[in-house]
Amino acid sequence: MEYIKDFEKIVAEQIARVERMKISDEFVDFEKTDKIIIGIIDGDGIGPVIVKEAKRVLNELLKDELASCKIELRNIDGLTIENRIARNATVPADVLEEIKKCHILLKGPTTTPSKADNVPNIESANVTLRRELDLFANVRPVYIPEKNIDWVFYRENTEGEYALGSRGVEISDDISIDFKVTTTDGTKRIAKAAFEYAKSNGNKNVSIVTKANIMKKTDGKFLDLCYQVAKDYPDIKVDDWYVDIMAANLVNEQIRSNFNVFILPNLYGDIITDEAAQIQGGVGTAGSANVGARYAMFEAIHGSAPRMVSDGIADYANPSSILKASEMMLRHIGYTEKADKLSVALNYAQANKRMTGDSSGETATAFADCVLSRI
Ligand code: NAD
Repeated sequence: MEYIKDFEKIVAEQIARVERMKISDEFVDFEKTDKIIIGIIDGDGIGPVIVKEAKRVLNELLKDELASCKIELRNIDGLTIENRIARNATVPADVLEEIKKCHILLKGPTTTPSKADNVPNIESANVTLRRELDLFANVRPVYIPEKNIDWVFYRENTEGEYALGSRGVEISDDISIDFKVTTTDGTKRIAKAAFEYAKSNGNKNVSIVTKANIMKKTDGKFLDLCYQVAKDYPDIKVDDWYVDIMAANLVNEQIRSNFNVFILPNLYGDIITDEAAQIQGGVGTAGSANVGARYAMFEAIHGSAPRMVSDGIADYANPSSILKASEMMLRHIGYTEKADKLSVALNYAQANKRMTGDSSGETATAFADCVLSRI
């Protein structure tokens, strides 16, 4: 009955996490920060290919701030799958220490070994970083003006099915059980972030997405709390949907442009935002922000695409995703004009360079050259 002790430990840890959440209020004021340190992590697979292009663009866009030391682009080494396996650590302690010295991070995708890979069963680096840096909001915009689509997804990033993803229990050869966690503070802060965004952007509609009819305790709580937070925003129209019908709504051209801001627990957010990115033109086009009170991490929404590397076509990876993430990062630190400049250049390159992900299209470098030509 070892698993009963494990379960007691899990409950104690979650109670302690809730207590920490209650006292954390370390917001950074970037306007008052003498030097903003941006940690850059290359990642695995196609990560180094696309991050190299993002660095070229940022070096040009921020050349004055880099020269005057107002901003530093700092390479963070060691978050590679080789080093993580060698050290048998999801995020090695010395790497985490370096990361915590930065204000924000721009991160390439990192590989998570699967059971079939026959290597130590280390957890996703992202899940660990989100937890360690308490990056509770995963914000993913999807914008397709010609289809009248302007969506922003607020995915809860630290709880749900992912909080204890590698802590499930194999009770016997016949039974396995995983855990899902919803907390009051964890839900209220993601709901508040989404409603604040909706309010400051002209009271956009907010849609809450759950499976509260089945997951009654966790999703039921999430749904109730989102409606509680909504009471502070009486001018915002709110509705709620089950995740299965929302997956259908996004491909329903009759109604999908009525949606604006979405609030979702972790797993549904993961799935629905990939679907939304596909509608925009593929995961290679979408960036995302992982935001907490103290830290923030910006990245592509896709993974390390190891098959593109083994097929020898990594150079054809689309860097739009990490460039979009760079744009979000610039907005986060208050560099709105530079972010707008990057957005215009990125739209220009997307309209003029055909990215297919193989040798029938353009390379990442050619795409970034096109972006740079407009900066
Ligand atoms: P993936 O997103 O890496 O790749 C799926 C497919 O999408 C690729 O085969 C490729 O055809 C295409 N693709 C992805 N990015 C592209 C780009 N920039 N340009 C052109 N085409 C692109 O998904 P996967 O194969 O499921 O995952 C691979 C690895 O990445 C796994 O180890 C997974 O755990 C990890 N992963 C990491 C992150 C992250 O670090 N944020 C996110 C998702 C997955």
